[in-house]
Amino acid sequence: MSDDWMDQGKCRDMAPAVFFPGDGVGVIAAQRICAECPVAERCLQYALDEHIDHGVWGGKSERERRRIARRRRLGAPVAAMA
Ligand code: SF4
Repeated sequence: MSDDWMDQGKCRDMAPAVFFPGDGVGVIAAQRICAECPVAERCLQYALDEHIDHGVWGGKSERERRRIARRRRLGAPVAAMA
């Protein structure tokens, strides 16, 4: 899969540290940025496909991505992952 979408990310000119926060306040701040990102779905899919454990990707925290991955392994419908 091409990584061209990364150039369209709202975070492209931001410090990467913003998306690797150390607390919940930082996670929320990162998620607010991701909420306005035009490639958030692709970003989330990339993080899931690559099994990226750390950081906020596609507007989802580490815990949220683990939950999504678990549901996918169990065969839950996509609509149930929101
Ligand atoms: S969803 Fe968030 S982390 Fe992913 S490209 Fe967009 S702004 Fe960056």
